[in-house]
Amino acid sequence: MKAWTLADRPLTIVLPYRNAKRFTAIWAAGENEVAFRRQPKAAHRCTLAFTAMELQRFLSRSWPDATIRFRSRPPRRGYALILETKDPRSRSSAFQLIPDGEERLRIQGEGRTGTLFGAYALLKLQGWRWHAPGPAGEIAPKPGGTLQVPAAPVTDRPGFDAGNGFDLECYSQESVDLLMWSARNGFDVWAGRAGTFALANKLGMTIKNGGHIFESILHPEAMLPSGETLWDAHPEWFGLPAEGGRKRERAQATQACASQPAQVEFLGQALLKRLRGDWSIADRVDMWGFDTWGQTCQCAACQKLGNTSDQMLYFAAQMRAFLDRAEAAKKLDRHVTLILCAYEGTASLAGPSRPVPDNLAADGTLVTFYPINRCYRHPLNDPACATNLRYWRALNAWTAARPPLRIVAGEYYNVSKYEDLPLLFSEVMRVDWPAFAAAGVRGATYMHLPSVHWGVRTLTQNLYARLTRHPEASGLEEWTAEYFEGWYGRHGAVMRKVAALTESAGHFCAQWRAWGAWSVLSNMLAWDGTPAAKPLTLHEHFADGAAAVAEGRRAAARLSEALSLVNALRRSETLLTAQAAPPPGGAVNPGELLRLQHSPLVGRRLAEDARLLRYGLDAMSLLTDLLAYHEALRLGQSDAADALWPAIEATAESLENQMIPLNVKHPGPGFLCRDCYERTQLSATISRCRAWRLRAGRTG
Ligand SMILES: [Zn+2]
Ligand SMILES: [Zn+2]
Repeated sequence: MKAWTLADRPLTIVLPYRNAKRFTAIWAAGENEVAFRRQPKAAHRCTLAFTAMELQRFLSRSWPDATIRFRSRPPRRGYALILETKDPRSRSSAFQLIPDGEERLRIQGEGRTGTLFGAYALLKLQGWRWHAPGPAGEIAPKPGGTLQVPAAPVTDRPGFDAGNGFDLECYSQESVDLLMWSARNGFDVWAGRAGTFALANKLGMTIKNGGHIFESILHPEAMLPSGETLWDAHPEWFGLPAEGGRKRERAQATQACASQPAQVEFLGQALLKRLRGDWSIADRVDMWGFDTWGQTCQCAACQKLGNTSDQMLYFAAQMRAFLDRAEAAKKLDRHVTLILCAYEGTASLAGPSRPVPDNLAADGTLVTFYPINRCYRHPLNDPACATNLRYWRALNAWTAARPPLRIVAGEYYNVSKYEDLPLLFSEVMRVDWPAFAAAGVRGATYMHLPSVHWGVRTLTQNLYARLTRHPEASGLEEWTAEYFEGWYGRHGAVMRKVAALTESAGHFCAQWRAWGAWSVLSNMLAWDGTPAAKPLTLHEHFADGAAAVAEGRRAAARLSEALSLVNALRRSETLLTAQAAPPPGGAVNPGELLRLQHSPLVGRRLAEDARLLRYGLDAMSLLTDLLAYHEALRLGQSDAADALWPAIEATAESLENQMIPLNVKHPGPGFLCRDCYERTQLSATISRCRAWRLRAGRTG
């Protein structure tokens, strides 16, 4: 490492464009004037100018007295950061930091995205961190000192060359702060949203749209221009169920027939319309089948295609050919890559049994592997876990398919069933991601990145960033130590313990809450509230109801201990920050007041963690008590059931008095703000229990 003393002489940031001195700030803010696809030069200039502005923004906060200027050429003498891109048309996020003599450093991106990411890497060398969205998520290095510059070239490539990013849940998840956090932490794929399209382009993101897109297009009641419904015009387009006989009301319970050329034309036109309309900047489109957990078409033509994944690939190959024709005929202004899914809900989890269609492989088609009911107590490749072993074999069947497709690992760190609960996955993540990379996985995504209020889950987002950019497990210990110290300051060691307790409490989160019929939540949702005749069918990791209750009590005890530790830290932090309270009158409106409060950041982080832990503790206690109550009723232990009931009512009330803000509407635009009781998903079950208690005269 070399040290540049910025107090001595100016720092020049060099852009390969004339008039950089005058126009850099204007180019950097000009994303709305750039047609990123048609004007690659202007796109490149916009991203590089923004890179220069980001460097200036953060370096001038570290060195308030330094002179930082923009130029089109390096000065003969003096420090210079030279921004350059190997292929200005590319959006590769690989980069190099190349020292050039004693006073120059070239930040050279493979594509424009790489140049920006290279600048963030240099800022990270100075100690800058962006652990959560917005200014409150920043960690700033102490001002002063010297600028640390690598003495030898540094090369940084994305660990997953097909990109890393997130699945967002709803269209309203527009957040400039979230998008900026993403870029600063090395994510190069973004689920496009209308209001941040231009910004995502400026950041060099590869943009994806889509999902389960055919449910509305291929709805049996959809009206055709002829005045007929789709069902009346083309019943043969819908899948033939195993029991025979297509039924209108169950039309989408079977995957659509893959052997209908006219349907490909119909769906292709519908897709094209969206790719030219609200998805006009999508580089990739998620094209998934019906999410029905249903059957696949049993017609003779489909059966000849091979297994259910072969059927999906056959259909996708025809859609690929349709899009290629549209592109050649200039009906589509760009090349759009398809993302398929390997997933039980669409009957495409198992790898294909036949060769992959050539046109899909040649195009670099992506397939996201979604192990929706996986176990989080064990890494996915743990042979001792039957649930995960099944998924692991399916994943390997997909990576082994030939000719090869590009497989993306899709994770579920904050999916809907988890209701924003304080779950952590560090133990499995640090085994899974290196294993995914070794298995030939090429990309990373997870459902669903929350917009706000990450609390203890801040660790998950940052660990995910680290492991999907650099999947190798070496250096993780240092990374973790630095994370806790940076984020919680002098409380780092205690908060590591809090995280370990929290993580351990959520080890069996899938067994408690996943979609599988065996989860405790699924069982409770299916329960009518009366004494059950038969034992519950639980996951294989829970021997029986009593064992599950015992595990639930252990989990609640750990969350309770974690919460006590955080609350003790909060009290000490409150006393400390009281001494540094700002004088009155510093703010004239709530917005200014919010900015003034940026100083006691650690206290705010602890408070956010505590809110999430409180919610987690109550939710875990409620589900455990409800399961215990179910078991007591089933075993005819009515006194024990009566003894449990007041705790259930008390916890339900406590949860109803809390809220976890900002839940999202799926899939359309809009926000919800649901109370915590509603978010446990248990309120209807508890109402049914109350109804039975009234009928049975057990009103206590
Ligand atoms: Zn068929
Ligand atoms: Zn397991």
